[in-house]
Amino acid sequence: MKLFENFKLPDVEALKNTVEAIKDNLTPAEKAKESSKDKSKEAVKEEVPAGCIKCPSCGNILEKKALGRLKICPKCAKLFRLNSKDRVKTIADENSFVEFDINMEAKDPLNFPDYKTKIKSVQEKPGLKDAILTGKCTIGGYETVLAVMDSTFLMGSMGSVVGEKLTRAFEYATENRLPIIVFTCSGGARMQEGIVSLMQMAKISAACAKHSIVKGLHTGDSSVQNSLFQKTICYY
Ligand SMILES: [Zn+2]
Repeated sequence: MKLFENFKLPDVEALKNTVEAIKDNLTPAEKAKESSKDKSKEAVKEEVPAGCIKCPSCGNILEKKALGRLKICPKCAKLFRLNSKDRVKTIADENSFVEFDINMEAKDPLNFPDYKTKIKSVQEKPGLKDAILTGKCTIGGYETVLAVMDSTFLMGSMGSVVGEKLTRAFEYATENRLPIIVFTCSGGARMQEGIVSLMQMAKISAACAKHSIVKGLHTGDSSVQNSLFQKTICYY
């Protein structure tokens, strides 16, 4: 472990002081600009009625349902972020999606500070126990397995649950001779699970290889170019 002998964590207090010093040295014009940014953010919150959204691209206020199934601004064609459940609706035949492993939840293998609390707090918004939704559906009547990562859940990061659910989705596809589509939108391996996150890659790659051996079709998108995880899946 000689590599890490001279490694030192950055001094957080010193960094905070540097940031404060930079703020203190702003010219009056720059300070006015900073405060106007904050005010405009507050103004946006105030002026958008419930059930509506302000398009950050064209500035129009739109009813949320006007964005449609694909979440596209009808005025300027800006693409809004899709969560995993929205994404399933864009591709699966109506009411055909059956979710796998609904209640699988992350443990805290490293006793990482506040990890359990963080998981609980982010589970409510997308209605997911972790950062991936897996299941089967039909597309144009053809049965298919889907695995959809969710960037609204800890940036779609890959921990033990994402790895296990994805592996099981591949195994299901292999056993049942089905194609599998993986939507990858991941921020990478989840740091709160450390090495356990990285160990998922070997497991997923093995399941993916078995699926290829039986000549199964699998595909994925390429929205996150720098994710090591995505490279494991898409360029296998
Ligand atoms: Zn727009």
